[in-house]
Amino acid sequence: MMNLDSNWDIIVIGGGITGAGIFRESVRMGLKALLLEQQDFAWGTSSRSSKLVHGGLRYLKEGRFFLTRDAVRERERLLTEARGLVTPMEFLVPIYKDRGPGRWVLEAGLSIYDLIAKQRQHHYLDADAFVKQVPNIDQKGLVGGFQFLDAQVDDARLVLRLIFESMVNGGTALNYTRAAAVGRDKDGQVNGVTVEDVHSHQTLSLSTKAVINATGCWAERLHPSPQKNLHLRPLRGSHLVFPAHVLPVDQAISTIHPADGRAVFIVPWEGAVIAGTTDLDHQDSLSFEPRITEGEVTYLLDGLHALFPALDVSARDCIATIAGVRPVLSEGKCDPSEESREHVVWVNNGLVTITGGKLTTFRKLAFDVLKAAKPFLPADTTADEESPVFLPFENRPVSPPPISDSHWETLYGRYGNAAETIIKKTLPSDLAVISGTRTLWAEIPHAATHEKIHHLSDLLLRRVRVGLLTAKGGREHMDRIRHLCAPVLDWDSNRWKKEIRDYSEKWRFAHGMPGRHAESRGAVKSFFFNMGKRLRKHVA
Ligand SMILES: Cc1cc2nc3c(=O)[nH]c(=O)nc-3n(C[C@H](O)[C@H](O)[C@H](O)COP(=O)(O)OP(=O)(O)OC[C@H]3O[C@@H](n4cnc5c(N)ncnc54)[C@H](O)[C@@H]3O)c2cc1C
Repeated sequence: MMNLDSNWDIIVIGGGITGAGIFRESVRMGLKALLLEQQDFAWGTSSRSSKLVHGGLRYLKEGRFFLTRDAVRERERLLTEARGLVTPMEFLVPIYKDRGPGRWVLEAGLSIYDLIAKQRQHHYLDADAFVKQVPNIDQKGLVGGFQFLDAQVDDARLVLRLIFESMVNGGTALNYTRAAAVGRDKDGQVNGVTVEDVHSHQTLSLSTKAVINATGCWAERLHPSPQKNLHLRPLRGSHLVFPAHVLPVDQAISTIHPADGRAVFIVPWEGAVIAGTTDLDHQDSLSFEPRITEGEVTYLLDGLHALFPALDVSARDCIATIAGVRPVLSEGKCDPSEESREHVVWVNNGLVTITGGKLTTFRKLAFDVLKAAKPFLPADTTADEESPVFLPFENRPVSPPPISDSHWETLYGRYGNAAETIIKKTLPSDLAVISGTRTLWAEIPHAATHEKIHHLSDLLLRRVRVGLLTAKGGREHMDRIRHLCAPVLDWDSNRWKKEIRDYSEKWRFAHGMPGRHAESRGAVKSFFFNMGKRLRKHVA
């Protein structure tokens, strides 16, 4: 950090999707841009979402037409510009006699979706046709349902691709570097940022006229809301992750939870299936990673039991849990699920704060911020809203062709131009997929070498998602992961021990099963273990 330049055109605080999008557009404008993230890139909400790039049907129901319009337009753009990273996802919505919206309400919403996307992407299925698509679904009272198109993404990789592609184009991004304070001159005009390396606690003062506060739920720490009655209301949403064989769905399903009528999703993702989400006030300190509670596990399981009564899904089938905190602006009056997901921009003498919004609309957020920051930026710099956000997709190199077209597309989506280096520098055996995931072994040493990892958790929870997609945070793969990283990471055996220990603790805290449900898993295991012992004794 000591060698860092002291003068910048713009400093972006926050390495989630909002900060990464602003950083990307700033670099494309030719600005000398610095991005600061106090933890790892995408460590906050942006690696803990439902991973959908979607219009949000429920926003239409709430009358938030413009939010849906922007989101559908962005989805359409990203499907082309982020090919392989943002991918189409078929959705099914069942319609029941006694719960949820009926056929004509959904038809109206989906038609608006299609009008915005300028193509017809939905159709109605009667009950028999619907059951053919989802054979395990509850058939009692099922009238039929809709099939429509939305999209999904690896949320952390979206953030990382924005950041690393910007760095290739001249931007500077630092993880584990906190913005400790925003500096101002005697007239109150922003003139810099004091930054702190969170490992060494070394601090440094940097100069700039434009500071962007893109710190999501933390935004009011750097700039309190200028509107007396409007404040951040952190709302937690949690998910359960299951192996595909436990919840065999080929398409995403959006349904209504029987307890409270909220929409919940079951989404195939990266070889596993995610079920979520909840929506609750998050009372814990933002200094700790958010985690699911026992009540949320029960709520999500109840939703799954109602939809798939024959599957008998239980907490012990779950591979991991994911909880994230929505940065929602609120007047504190309504039910969490009715709070608006729109973003706000506050401008204060060179400090532009942005919070709220969605992963899907990150480009729109970036352009709104850069417009607001224009008076503090060098003259004659304008954001380019037309050209693609990422480098254009390149076809798989003809020689050598060691992976399939579909793996190439995914690899390019995640890494852009670096995808070619990954396949060229790799042993054929490392071009195999890690079981239960869509990740190649070769991605692990690539990320360890080139993607600014400081800790094992950076590698396994965000560069690749093995920690969320395989049992116990990928414990069974640890030897091979270590073997692949040893030549490129400067970690001795003590450091490895510490990293594995810290990672396991973090994983148990933020991604394991909580209390009673964890015990029930333990209890079932010990029941079978003891029964086995008793049987062996009996046989002997
Ligand atoms: C459960 C859930 C599901 C969701 N699903 C979807 C979905 O499917 N699709 C969708 O479009 N949206 C979804 N969203 C919304 C979306 O995930 C969020 O709106 C988005 O990730 C917020 O991004 P952000 O960059 O503003 O915040 P964050 O990702 O939280 O980033 C803020 C960053 O700022 C850093 N920071 C804070 N203070 C400082 C400081 N002083 N110095 C340096 N860094 C600092 C933090 O460490 C953090 O990494 C979901 C949200 C939740 C909670």
